[in-house]
Amino acid sequence: MITRSPIPLQCRPAEPAPGAWQAQLAGAIRDPHELCRRLGLAPDWLPGAEAGHRLFEVRVPEAYLARIRPGDPSDPLLRQVLPLGEEAEAAPGFVADPLEEAGHTPKRGLIHKYAGRVLLIASPACAVNCRYCFRRHFPYEENAPSRAQWEETLAYLRDDASIHEAILSGGDPLAASDRQLAWLVERLEAIPHLRRLRIHTRLPVVIPDRIDGALLDWLGSTRLQRVMVLHINHAQEIDDAVVEACRRLQAAGVTLLNQSVLLRGVNDDVDTLAALSERLFEAGILPYYLHVLDPVAGAAHFDIDDDAARALVAELRTRLPGFLMPTLVREVPGEASKTPL
Ligand SMILES: *Cc1c(COP(=O)(O)O)cnc(C)c1O
Ligand code: SF4
Repeated sequence: MITRSPIPLQCRPAEPAPGAWQAQLAGAIRDPHELCRRLGLAPDWLPGAEAGHRLFEVRVPEAYLARIRPGDPSDPLLRQVLPLGEEAEAAPGFVADPLEEAGHTPKRGLIHKYAGRVLLIASPACAVNCRYCFRRHFPYEENAPSRAQWEETLAYLRDDASIHEAILSGGDPLAASDRQLAWLVERLEAIPHLRRLRIHTRLPVVIPDRIDGALLDWLGSTRLQRVMVLHINHAQEIDDAVVEACRRLQAAGVTLLNQSVLLRGVNDDVDTLAALSERLFEAGILPYYLHVLDPVAGAAHFDIDDDAARALVAELRTRLPGFLMPTLVREVPGEASKTPL
């Protein structure tokens, strides 16, 4: 359960019903021993899992675990969530804050780097802890605003008429309660120059039951145009429950896009990337960005060099219709947009 609430609660939510997304989130595996046992791994994986866990804690909900083939250390979903001893090894150029976001937070919980759009940290927590995450060292505690701080953030948006899009990010914004999110969206839609609400989230993939009636109530009724950018790295992540969740979102008028990270041992071959694009489209999602890894400390073992990344994408282009091609990008600190490779 999320204990820190960045958006003020009007009242305490009731105990979640068994099986509800809140209960699934609260019941996520957070112990490296249990993770190795449930994944059917030999005991020699445990020391690495423990070492990595001390740097960035394990978190894997059951609904995601169910899509992993037990006993297969090369499973592409397992590699995204299992801590390894390599995470403790220093690598040149891999640092705590690769995007230098610390310099772009005019208000707590708000990052304004690009024209016309701002990113709001709407929840400090995620439903899953991805080992390659560029925010694995992000000071969420400092960026989990109180009610007064949210008022300041909203004032910042009101005062800058060039801002047309609010991007809810995190952590994972959908880890916040619907009551909190409905409150925030109501405040955002009262700002006349805001046109779009974008949500960057992995929750509909990790716990598809997150897309429930309470979420569709606020998301389906706002005057703002809605875009959801999901984060899916492999076709195996898209099971029938994810497809169903996507259908519900589309029925509520949400445009669905996907961003992936190019990861060694997860999706660094052309067949896997082609299958991902095809499967995304079956679920009604268009590929948006394919990110090269941000050089965050602890993730160097996922890295792929730029020439190999370009060659993969060139080959992918010979296999897919143009509308299923993601754009290969890197985030370069100080640039006015993501940088195509
Ligand atoms: C990636 C990002 C955005 C969104 O960029 P798009 O190219 O519009 O998807 C906005 N703000 C920040 C701080 C970002 O990192
Ligand atoms: S869901 Fe996104 S923000 Fe959260 S750990 Fe994974 S990559 Fe990082």
